[in-house]
Order: sequence, then structure tokens, then C-alpha cells
Amino acid sequence: MIPSQMAAGAERLAKYKQARARENTLSGGRTAGFSRIAVPGEVDLTHGRILYLEDVHVSFDGFKAINGLSLDIAPGELRCIIGPNGAGKTTMMDIITGKTRPDSGQVFFGSTINLLRHREAEIAAMGIGRKFQKPTVFEHLSVFENLELALACDKRVWASLSFTLNGEQRDRLYSVLSTILLLDSAARQAGTLSHGQKQWLEIGMLLMQEPQLLLLDEPVAGMTDEETERTAELFLRLKGKHSLMVVEHDMAFIRAISEKITVLCDGAVLAEGTLDQVQADERVIEVYLGR
Ligand code: ADP
Ligand code: MG
Repeated sequence: MIPSQMAAGAERLAKYKQARARENTLSGGRTAGFSRIAVPGEVDLTHGRILYLEDVHVSFDGFKAINGLSLDIAPGELRCIIGPNGAGKTTMMDIITGKTRPDSGQVFFGSTINLLRHREAEIAAMGIGRKFQKPTVFEHLSVFENLELALACDKRVWASLSFTLNGEQRDRLYSVLSTILLLDSAARQAGTLSHGQKQWLEIGMLLMQEPQLLLLDEPVAGMTDEETERTAELFLRLKGKHSLMVVEHDMAFIRAISEKITVLCDGAVLAEGTLDQVQADERVIEVYLGR
């Protein structure tokens, strides 16, 4: 690499690190670190599932938060998860992403990757992206820089030791900007975006890392009706290219995107089926929808 490029890359990296340190202080260290991670090979989809949980149990001080949870998701599927507060929806995502270790059970990514053998950062690097409820974008950077930064967290980019976007990365960045409806806002400071746009930007930051599976916890909470509708369209566009697991309470949103729905209750699957099927299920009405 030529010296001027290296200097520019180093300067940009220093700027990111400063912004990161500042944001980490503000967010209590919730954003992911710049770690170098070993990534295993391809995800094996030969058995028609990208994610597979079998009889998973987790207790917190004797309380069974997850209690015999089994579920699988097909490649390209958009699965909605609903259920009352405390059902274990967020804990399930904590288990898939390696944040919480189950007491027993199996959790596989594809047919061969045992997620229980991997750490949180490794699981993210393997292609499982997670969106938390609260947006965690870098408020002081532009929309474009936020997406660039997401690339910088990708170990494949670190491997090249370069901080200048190549053509393929630039194309990907613009394609993501268009997908998340922020093409016209690329130069805007992220802190000036609406709540809904910040959520889209954070989804864009996940997309920059080309995840195979996206876990989204209450993505439309706090959005306006129009933002919610556009988020439904966004998810329908992502489906197929990515597998999505979406936890939401907003039933209009669920209706707009729904295929197969899983109803969680007391840490296990209560019902599974189309929205009409689960809405007609007496047990589901009793624990969730009827209240
Ligand atoms: P949901 O997302 O469906 O509302 P959660 O997964 O957040 O439910 O929580 C399931 C249950 O597990 C709740 O009763 C919650 O209080 C409990 N729980 C979750 N995480 C912890 C934890 N780290 N320590 C103790 N209890 C927890
Ligand atoms: Mg939750």
C-alpha cells in the first residue's frame, strides 16, 4: 500500500477508535470489540435448517427461564416469535448468540456448528447478527461512516490490513444504504436521525457483515406507524437472502411480515403455525392474545 493511503487509513482508524471509546463510555461498553477471531468454515445447510435448538434448559437461581425449548429455522425463513413478557424470548436470543450458556440441550448453526462450543464474538463472526432493542449507532459519525465502521469490525477486512473501501465493499455499502432507505441521508450525522431511522441504520450495520441469520428483538418498538410499515417492507426484502428471527409484540407488524409464527410461553414452544392458526389456538388466547 502507498504511504499516503496508509496514513489516511490510520487516521480514520484513530478517529473510529476515539468515537468508539466515547460511545463505549456512553453505552456502558455494549458495542462489540475490535477483536481478531477465528471463523470456522461454511454453514452446512444440507438438513434444511440454519438454526436448531433441542430441549434447551436454563435456570436463573432455580427459576426455569428456558424449559425444554426446541425449535428450528429454515434457510431464508422469516420466523416471528411472540409470547407474553417473561416467556424467555430475549433469553433464547442470549443463548443463540453465546451470551448465556444453557444448563442442557443442543444449539446448532446449520447441521455441524455447535454454538455451545463458541464464544459470543466467534458466533457473531460466523454470521449470526443480533439487533438489540435500543439502537446503538455512533451518534457523532455520519450514516456512511457508521456503515464503514461496521465493515471495520469484520475480521475479513482486518485481514487485509487496509482501511480503504475496495470497489466491492463500496458497492455493498451503497446497496445497504438503499435497502435501509437511507441513501439520501448518507452524509447526515447519525445522531440527527429519527428513532426509526437509527434502528434501520443499526440493521444496516449488521447487513454490512453479511450475516446469514439475523436476530431482531422488538425492532419496531417506539417507531411511528409509517416507520413500522416500512420496516415490514424492509424485512420482506431481507427474507430469502438472510434468515430472520423476529421477536415482536406489534400484531399489525407481525401480520404484515408473518409466515410461520412460534408462540413462546414459560420458556418453551406453546404453539407454532400461521398467524391465523396460532390466533385460533385456545392456549395462545388464554396466555397471550386474549388479555
Ligand atoms: P421475554 O424476553 O420473553 O420477555 P426474558 O427472556 O427477558 O423474557 O426473561 C425470561 C425470564 O427469565 C424472566 O422471568 C426474567 O426475569 C428471567 N431472566 C432473564 N434473564 C435473567 C438473568 N440474567 N438473571 C435472572 N433472571 C433472568
Ligand atoms: Mg424480551
